[in-house]
Amino acid sequence: MTTPPSSTPGSGSSNRERISCPGCGRHDWVTWPAAAATFHWKCFNCEKQFDLARGGRH
Ligand SMILES: [Zn+2]
Repeated sequence: MTTPPSSTPGSGSSNRERISCPGCGRHDWVTWPAAAATFHWKCFNCEKQFDLARGGRH
């Protein structure tokens, strides 16, 4: 009776993070690499680009 937790979904090299655009406030879900402290993101709404920081919520 061995159940090795070999395949754990979500524990890969990236995570789904909810972000909001600093420019227009648009919310979106992005695939944020787990090793990255910041995420370079281009807003599809206002077409501005940002370097978002993880955990930037109050
Ligand atoms: Zn925007």
